[in-house]
Amino acid sequence: KSSKIISKSILELDNITKDYKLGNSKDVVHALKGINLSFRKNEFVSILGPSGCGKTTLLNIIGGLDKYTSGDLIIGGKSTKNFNDHDWDVYRNHRIGFIFQSYNLIPHQTILGNVELALTISGMSKKERLKKAKDALDKVGLAGMYKKHPNQLSGGQCQRVAIARALVNEPDILLADEPTGALDTTTSKQIMDLIKQISKERLVIMVTHNPDIANEYSTRIINLLDGLVINDTNPIKNNENLQDIYFDIKNEKAKMKFSTAFRLSLRNLLSKIRRTILVCIAGSIGIVGVSTVLAVSSGIHNYIDSMQDDMLSGNPITITETAFDINSFISQSSTREKIEIIQKEGIVGVNSIVKAMIERSESMNSYSVSNEITQDYIDFVLDMPEEDFAAISLDYGIDISNNVYTDWRYQDLGVSEKMSISAITKMYSAVVNKTDFSDYSSYIGQLATSFKQAPDNKDYILSQYDLLEGSIAENEDEIMVVVSKNRQLNDVLLAQLGYYTQKQFINIIYESKDSASFDKSQQKYEFPYDEIINKRFVWYPNDTIFTKNQGMLATANPFTYKAYETDEFENGLTLKVTGILQAKDDISYGCLTSGFYYNPKLTIKILESSLQSEIVQYFKDNNLDSINSGSYTVPITGQTIPSGISYTYDYYFEDELFEDVTGYVGNESMFSSFMNIISSYIGGGSSGVNLGGDSKYYTITLRELGGIDIANAISIYPTNFDCKSNVTKHLDRWNDQNEIIEVNNKRITPDERSKITYTDNLEVIITMINTMIDIVTYALIVFTALSLLVSTVMIGIITYVSVVERVKEIGVIRSLGGRKKDVSHLFNAETFIIGLTSGIFGILTTMLISLIINIIVGNLAGIRTIALVRVSDASIMIGVSVLLTLISGLIPARAAANKNPVEALRTE
Ligand code: ADP
Ligand code: MG
Repeated sequence: KSSKIISKSILELDNITKDYKLGNSKDVVHALKGINLSFRKNEFVSILGPSGCGKTTLLNIIGGLDKYTSGDLIIGGKSTKNFNDHDWDVYRNHRIGFIFQSYNLIPHQTILGNVELALTISGMSKKERLKKAKDALDKVGLAGMYKKHPNQLSGGQCQRVAIARALVNEPDILLADEPTGALDTTTSKQIMDLIKQISKERLVIMVTHNPDIANEYSTRIINLLDGLVINDTNPIKNNENLQDIYFDIKNEKAKMKFSTAFRLSLRNLLSKIRRTILVCIAGSIGIVGVSTVLAVSSGIHNYIDSMQDDMLSGNPITITETAFDINSFISQSSTREKIEIIQKEGIVGVNSIVKAMIERSESMNSYSVSNEITQDYIDFVLDMPEEDFAAISLDYGIDISNNVYTDWRYQDLGVSEKMSISAITKMYSAVVNKTDFSDYSSYIGQLATSFKQAPDNKDYILSQYDLLEGSIAENEDEIMVVVSKNRQLNDVLLAQLGYYTQKQFINIIYESKDSASFDKSQQKYEFPYDEIINKRFVWYPNDTIFTKNQGMLATANPFTYKAYETDEFENGLTLKVTGILQAKDDISYGCLTSGFYYNPKLTIKILESSLQSEIVQYFKDNNLDSINSGSYTVPITGQTIPSGISYTYDYYFEDELFEDVTGYVGNESMFSSFMNIISSYIGGGSSGVNLGGDSKYYTITLRELGGIDIANAISIYPTNFDCKSNVTKHLDRWNDQNEIIEVNNKRITPDERSKITYTDNLEVIITMINTMIDIVTYALIVFTALSLLVSTVMIGIITYVSVVERVKEIGVIRSLGGRKKDVSHLFNAETFIIGLTSGIFGILTTMLISLIINIIVGNLAGIRTIALVRVSDASIMIGVSVLLTLISGLIPARAAANKNPVEALRTE
């Protein structure tokens, strides 16, 4: 809405008064006591009067910088009684130009910038602004000095800049408050000439206490005394013929763009660059703290994610006959039982640890679940979508070591014996028993598993392993050797498989003991590939190695196990070592650990042969799961069960090996027992050394013999970590009573499905690690957030200091028609810049710290990125920095906006 007004007088003061309240008391200063004046469009008015009579007050009221207490100021015929803040701002910006005694230039702006400011506030475009500002400076005689700063100019030049600034908006009224008060006579004269020039085109009202200047330049002199006009040399007469004046206040704008506020603040900050840098560094400390914690946390998460696929191959999902339900264990174990403490006078209480122990072990048992793995279940598992798994291994619990025979070197005699792997293992156990380390002899068999079954997927294995020599085992008669990362195999395994002589093996033990028995010539720590590969292994079926006993012997020992291979052995399958494999560099947990692996095709062959074998039939006829070796009777269901399987092997020592050590002197009988190996029996009370001793029973189970064709353990190797959830989803279907399961056209009803718990160790490990990292991260973030809070408060304080410093600038902007909002924008822009710079600086510092952390951790642990600054985290932290500083600057900015412009200008 526009309101055009036509008026005769440009400005009219109608009985204007101004009272100042002093403090909170009732004392009032009557600065103006009823001023009546009206002005022509074109005249040079001087207001004269002694100091304190109200000249400045009057000028500020005319300029709309200060509000009158009563009366009315009529601008171009329009009353200002109902003016709002915006109207006043527009009025100041478009109608009024101010010149002050102390110039009031903004020190960190160039003089061009100072002049531009007035135009900036009115929202003029950059190009137009520059042209107008330069024109204005040219007019006051400062052409070519645009880039200078106020402190590089003389007083007179400063006042010229102030005049240019006042005129650049082409105001109707120029108000000057003692413009020459701070200048010498010559300069004063120049400035007065300039003002005189200006007054030809507009109304100039100048306050001065110098009557000579007033008399020389002005066309009208008004004398003020104690807030009242006492004389006016040229008042408007009633019959004067005046031109009409057009005013259009509502349509005019006075609005500073935020981008301008931004630019002004940036320039201010740059002018105090050192302090700004310090503030930004201080402000970024909190950001650095929090984002470093985030970086390390996400780096570790990332590392774990990258490890998942790797770890997956070493931690397949397994289903075993007995499992430990770790999930319910973890969810339950947090609830601790309370121990009740009863205290009575004169009585000693009993704390039943027995009860507690039983309760605890019972509760442990409740987490142990037994799974009934049926052929239906195995079919169901194998029915899984092929793309989800790389391999499924079925483990039948077969112990191949009873059936595999190899050359074992008896070095001293130059004889090479052919012995079963299990027998060699037991022999080494006995060998160790004869050393100073007899306590450890029982571990020998447990330290290594001679032969293991590899997953049935050549590509999957080759994706994780490099072939050092030869090829992958693909057939039933092929074996591959997997060596560790540093291309090693362990000594116990090598001993079990007959690669070591007793002397060589014992030497390893005595070398570590630095014993006199140590014989350097018997040291053997290196095996050429040839030696590993060219070794002979033969597998024999059960019927070859377990022979049924007849007569009396059969009652106690129904079968005889032949630990030594003879020429009469039949139906052997020679196993060839086809290749040596090593995990690829980037694989930490492959699907194979170091050892000897056979192909699942051998498992099938063993099962086929074993199920037909005499000993398995014997187990089944007698309903046995296992038989102990040695003479021992186990009564089950009233039956007398044949107690043992006699072993047809004995063991012998390389005699001189133990002479010094244990006093065990090799003798004739030892040697003869070696010669009579084949015919001597254990448990049968025969001659020679009793392997079983009195208390050692080696148990042979139906499973070990290959007598059960339903697997008792299943290992599933998911294709990758993402597929793992598909695998577990598939397995979960079995336990879901609502699921309809059909495998091989056979429907398996929920009644036929007993609950099966699978073990997903990787999930448990990863979840546990991630939870732990999260907890630590949160704790650290809370901790470092404190520093963020401190820096926020500090930035608030610094902004406040900046407000105090820039009070004058606030006054200038307001006098040029800047809104309160513009002033608060100015300070918000400043805090925004500080927040942004702190944020960016903080993130850059964090990146540098991360780089250093990565280099250090990379060198120490070989992990490449342990600190990772994510783009999302970085932008959030920059956002947080900006937000926090903006909030901290809000109060100071508002305080600045609400500053009284008159008081703001008055401060020095
Ligand atoms: P002049 O410019 O003629 O020297 P001023 O207009 O500055 O005089 O002041 C007129 C009177 O009003 C003086 O007595 C001064 O003390 C008083 N005065 C001016 N501004 C304020 C204020 N903000 N608060 C209280 N008194 C004021
Ligand atoms: Mg004054």
